[in-house]
Parts: sequence; C-alpha cells; structure tokens
Amino acid sequence: MHQDFNPHIRWQCPRCGAAVHAASESFTCIGCGTIYPVKHGVADFRLNGKDEVTESFDIRIRNFFKRWPRAYYFIATIFGPLMFTGISPKKFATRYCTPDLLSVNIGSGPRPLVAGILNLDIVPYKGVSVIADTVRTPFATNSVDVVVCNEVIEHVERPEELAREIARIVTPGGSVYLTMPFLYPFHASPSDFSRWTEPGVALLFSDFTVREKGVRAGPFSALTVLCCYLFATVFSFNSKQLFWILMNVSLFIFFPIKIFDLIVFRFSTAPYAAALTYYVLQKK
Ligand SMILES: [Zn+2]
Repeated sequence: MHQDFNPHIRWQCPRCGAAVHAASESFTCIGCGTIYPVKHGVADFRLNGKDEVTESFDIRIRNFFKRWPRAYYFIATIFGPLMFTGISPKKFATRYCTPDLLSVNIGSGPRPLVAGILNLDIVPYKGVSVIADTVRTPFATNSVDVVVCNEVIEHVERPEELAREIARIVTPGGSVYLTMPFLYPFHASPSDFSRWTEPGVALLFSDFTVREKGVRAGPFSALTVLCCYLFATVFSFNSKQLFWILMNVSLFIFFPIKIFDLIVFRFSTAPYAAALTYYVLQKK
C-alpha cells in the first residue's frame, strides 16, 4: 500500500468502482485502467482535471487579510457575524476521530482540523491529501469510520448525491458530523445551491440515526448577518464591489447583536430561525 497513506484505507476507482492498485507515484484502477497520480503525498482522483476555482471579490478581500492569520482570526471571532454554539468540528473530531479509525473530512478546505484526519477537497488547497469530487470519492463501500462535512453541502450542485456518497462510504455504526447554513444569505464558494430544514436532513440522510443536533449559530447570528446584508445593499447603490466593502465595514456596527444567541441557542425553537445547524449522525 502507498506509504504516504493510512494502510487501512480501501481505495476504489471513482470512475468505475473497481479496486485500485497502489504504486509509488500513482494509483491504477484494475477495472478501467485509469491512472491517478500521487505527487508529494497528494493523490489526485479528479475525473476531469479542472483546476483552481476563480475566487469572488469578497473571498479575495478575506484572503488578503489572512496574510496576518492571528490578527485575522482574532478580529473575525470578535467582529464576525456568527456566535458559534454547540459542537464545533474540532470538538467532534477530538471526540470521534481516534487514531484507530479512518476519518475523512469531505470538502475540508485549507484549514486542518485534527491530526490524522484525511482531508479531501476538489480544490488542491494546502493540507489536502486527496483531491476528488465530493460526490465521487475514491473510498470503498462501508470503509470509512468517521466523516466530517462542515459547511459543504450547500455548495454541492446535487446534495442528494453527496448524501448518497456519504451513506455509501461510511461503515455501519460509523459517525458523520454535518453542518450547514439555514437562514444565511447566498454565499458563492464557488456557488451556493441549497438550504435544509431538520426534517429535510432526516430525509436526506435516511440511512442514519440523528444522535445529536443543534444550533451552530442561532437566530441572532442570522439577524446580524441580515443586518449587514441589508446595510450593504442599501448603501452600495448597486455596486457589487462597494457592497462587499460595506459588508466588511458593517460587521463592526452590527456584531453585538449576535451575543444574544448565548441566551437562546439551547431553546427548542432556536433551530427554526438559526443561521447554521449541526448534526451528529450514526449509520444504521
Ligand atoms: Zn476504474
């Protein structure tokens, strides 16, 4: 097995579903013969080798300020519009992604969660070790113990396909941590396709039992974000660039509203108008 990867991973071809043979610099499908390259410990299982997505103006502004990461994340935590509550991805991963289990972070992006988790993304960010489509992952059926899917599902064109893929790869009894926006405005990364209610998630993941669920950012976070969008919409006079600049300025005006989520996030009705929700699922 490939020396850079956990030897317990059971790989399969995302094109035809056959097993893949691991060599030092590639994986080769024993069914259809497709060769998937491995470079510097990163396996590329993309079926159509489209490269980096073009980033929108607001992402570019943020990336500019991320040159000073400590200052950026400090300011983002205080002035950002969301008051995070409930189980965080890190808390879940610390509890569930133990070294004896195979854990995959689907749509991981560039930020590492915990050591030992396998980061999968369609974009070859730093820290990603498997580049693949989130709806066609290179893992065998019932072979992954834990999946993390943090704020990804809304960016997938066909969320039912992602849910089906997660249900396929997770082993019976395995766990899934899922977060998603609910009352949160359109945010392209590179696009934004869906919102899900609690009963919607239960239907989408019908092969799973909901073990825990809650508000990841509550109704007051939703209100904070909406105030920022309204402020920026009104005063940008239809200029998209001015809109994103005002969005970042307005955070400094409206951020205190979110604090009230610390009071209401445990209320049973908080998910009805939450900005973000989370679920811990277990496969039946
Ligand atoms: Zn194949």
